[in-house]
Formats: sequence, C-alpha cells, structure tokens
Amino acid sequence: MKPTHIEHIGIAVNSLEESIPYYENILGLKCYATEEVKDQKVKTAFFMVGQTKIELLEPTGPEGPIGKFIEKKGTGIHHIAFAMEDVATALHQAKEKGVRLIDQKPRKGAEGLNIGFLHPKSTGGVLTEFCGM
Ligand code: ZN
Repeated sequence: MKPTHIEHIGIAVNSLEESIPYYENILGLKCYATEEVKDQKVKTAFFMVGQTKIELLEPTGPEGPIGKFIEKKGTGIHHIAFAMEDVATALHQAKEKGVRLIDQKPRKGAEGLNIGFLHPKSTGGVLTEFCGM
C-alpha cells in the first residue's frame, strides 16, 4: 500500500459561514463546493490547494461525530485523508498489520469517493482516512 498524495485535510469548525472568509480572504483560496451529509450530521465546504483539498466540517447537531469532536477537543484539525488507488485493499492490508479499523469496508463519502477510517488508537491519535476509487 502506498498513498499517492494527501487527498484532503478535514477541519472541524463551528460555522462554515464564519470560517470560509479566512480561507478565501486571507489564504486566497476559493470555496468550490458545499455539501450537507445528513447521516453524518455535517455540512462541508471544499477548497483546492494543489491536488489536496481542505474540507471544513460544520456540525448540524451536537450528536454527530463532528459535534462530539468539537465538544471534546474544540475546533481544529479533525482528520487526514490519504489518497489510495484501492481503498478496500488498503483497509484490508492495514487490518492484517494489526491496525484497528473504524470501517471494515469502504463506504461512499463526499464527492462519491470510496472512504474508510482507521481508528486513532492505532495511528498515534490521528484520525486517518483512506480515500479513492
Ligand atoms: Zn474526510
């Protein structure tokens, strides 16, 4: 397994509306898409930096994963996503090497990509996502 690049970095924010101006006005990036993922209770906003995205994550309720994260740890970097050519195989290989998985199999994430998460207990505290086809 070898990631081709950092696909995106997920950042938990209290409000997209309040956070987007920093990325647009200070960093000069352009928000090219927003999307609500209802079953994750989250609204997302995307920016492109080279071939890597910044994904802002605003909770739509306190009981979703981002709402819980902010309550426990505050806003800030939530996860890092590595681009993998084959997410199912990468998850399988990580598991064989003793990594605890959150997702045993890929599921559909934002932008229709296959995604799967590794448990931060197995990754030095970094919530890690594999992302790809
Ligand atoms: Zn992600």
